[in-house]
Amino acid sequence: MKIVEVESFVLHAPIPRRVTDAFNQADKWGLPGVRIRTDEGLEGTGYTSTLTHGDFAIKDILDRIYAPLLLGEDPLDTQRHWDRLYWSDAHWVGRLGITHMALAAVDIALWDLKAKHCGLPLWRLAGGHKQGQVRSYNTDGGWLNFEVPRLIDEMSRIVDQGWSGVKMKIGKDDPREDLRRVAAVRDALGPDIDLMIDVNQRWNRTRAVAWAERFAEFDIGWLEEPIDPDDVEGHARIADATSIPIAVGEHVYTRTAFRDLIVRGNIGVVQVDATRVGGITEWLAVAELANSYHVPVIPHHADMMRVHQHLGVAHPGSPMIECIPWLQELFHEPADIRAGVFHVSETPGASTTFTDDAFAQYRVA
Ligand SMILES: [Mg+2]
Repeated sequence: MKIVEVESFVLHAPIPRRVTDAFNQADKWGLPGVRIRTDEGLEGTGYTSTLTHGDFAIKDILDRIYAPLLLGEDPLDTQRHWDRLYWSDAHWVGRLGITHMALAAVDIALWDLKAKHCGLPLWRLAGGHKQGQVRSYNTDGGWLNFEVPRLIDEMSRIVDQGWSGVKMKIGKDDPREDLRRVAAVRDALGPDIDLMIDVNQRWNRTRAVAWAERFAEFDIGWLEEPIDPDDVEGHARIADATSIPIAVGEHVYTRTAFRDLIVRGNIGVVQVDATRVGGITEWLAVAELANSYHVPVIPHHADMMRVHQHLGVAHPGSPMIECIPWLQELFHEPADIRAGVFHVSETPGASTTFTDDAFAQYRVA
């Protein structure tokens, strides 16, 4: 079997409402990606995700550097292609960021194609650990731009739908305000719901060391991205200063960086994101690494759960995934979520196939 076509694309899809965290704001979602076709009529789809900035830089890497390396090749050699693309001309201009996100799109498309070729859903091909089901926690009620009454209303509604874990954003200019918001939410939700908090890198090391433990009285599942994810020793200092586990990973691009954060940074949750870390091939390597240190792998949503739902049920180190239930209508198979549990499809592939309507409505040139 040979690759005969590599078609890049960019979609810009609306999300239900404008939301913010301490770092970003979003009212639409960018999906730069690639469809890879073979001489046997198979097609694989992979994409990464953005807030629409940088999409065409990613597309440019796909078109100019990666596509020529793929044409004529056997698509099943996923590890070989990962190495070839990683050590391509893209290496000089960026081993991380847009080149790595473009690599993720290719790698996910190749795994989608390989799973279809094998007649298996990705989760069975990649390990098949949890009989197709994995618990999730929901982030979609906890945005920073919601005032406290709305925050409580939206997060309570999520719990009423069956979720037993929720996350909220913090990182206000004055951490006292964060403390009041978290206190109000914990009071509303009661003691039996897992509650996580996410700073989106907005604190510095000093503030994190001083403030992290003050949230512990609200029984916090983890403190996410307290500081710049490159500050490995900073994470160790914060971990020493609080009983709350530190979670990092959505902005970490390599297995080497994860190794350092686990071993020297003493992080407690690995949030590796396949759409950033270079795809499924590298995600599995990071998950193995984390599992060997007995640190749970709870992937960042980012791709709106298409790939991470499969990886979450495939890998023994992954007890839970993140849920932000946007963009479901873009895909042939919307995620099947019941009472916070994902029931992942038996359809061959990675569930990344878009509808024709999604392409007609949201593709941008
Ligand atoms: Mg986060």
